[in-house]
Amino acid sequence: MRPLPRADIKVGFACNNRCVFCAQGDKRSEATAIPFEELIARLESVKDQTRGLVLTGGEPTLHKDILRIIASAAAMGYRPIQIQTNGRMMSYPKAIEALVRAGATEFSPSVHGSTAEIHDALTRAPRSFEQTTAGMRNVAKLGLPVVTNTVITKSNVTDLPNIVALLGSLGVRDAQLAFVHPVGTAETLFDEVVPRLADVVEPLRAAHALAQKLGIRLVCEGIPYCFLRGMESLAVEDQIPHTTVIDLAGARADYSEWRVVEGKSHGEPCTQCARRATCEGPWREYPAAFGWAEFIPFALESAPDFVISSPKET
Ligand code: SF4
Repeated sequence: MRPLPRADIKVGFACNNRCVFCAQGDKRSEATAIPFEELIARLESVKDQTRGLVLTGGEPTLHKDILRIIASAAAMGYRPIQIQTNGRMMSYPKAIEALVRAGATEFSPSVHGSTAEIHDALTRAPRSFEQTTAGMRNVAKLGLPVVTNTVITKSNVTDLPNIVALLGSLGVRDAQLAFVHPVGTAETLFDEVVPRLADVVEPLRAAHALAQKLGIRLVCEGIPYCFLRGMESLAVEDQIPHTTVIDLAGARADYSEWRVVEGKSHGEPCTQCARRATCEGPWREYPAAFGWAEFIPFALESAPDFVISSPKET
């Protein structure tokens, strides 16, 4: 069953990381912070259709009015209130305490590598690994829910099992691995950033096995079922709450519908696939660059089971 609907409100695109895969691209310099009054109007406009709220950006904790924004959302009845963050501000215990006092109920920090070398190269922000992991320890001390996000890229694909091990050591119980969406900066740096889906399969299998051992609920986004054989339950798409996104200009968009209709795509292999009805397919930029040869539909895979080999000649 899907969780209750939620609103995803971007408070501004300023960020102290410069991730090589950032889907927001140049927006970071177009709208560093949406004014407080405007954000309140946006919160008011969707509060009757949703209860849950995700505050995101950019980096929402950099907004000078973030505490007032959270407190106003809490007063309007939003709950849970999740802060989707690069996690660096969480390294300051007083900052977390203030966010929680204002009404934040959970945090979703980004962990993109198991070492500073891998994570900081992806965020292009020295010491971001140190700060994010310190922040996660601080949140764990407060006993608050943490749902991590890891963007799967060329540089960290083989590191996925190590990332899961790190998350286990930090007390994380819910983690998402999201295949890079090749838009924004990720589109500009496509060759450097986007791995082949086929190369994700084995590291993901090892990460999945480890997560099961450590008691971490692991999910994946943006990876079609044909790359999740034997681990299809990882696909998170049918569990993502119905999400209303308010974009930069303040326009409302049904992200759930946009993702299926415009974000993802299906190709020729999908027409003969047993999973077609429930599979959203890959981000459309992926087959636009690499084609559909990697995608092996489910129906074709089962056919050879029924082929009886020719009797040996005597
Ligand atoms: S072949 Fe197409 S429909 Fe089937 S699992 Fe792959 S992406 Fe989905």
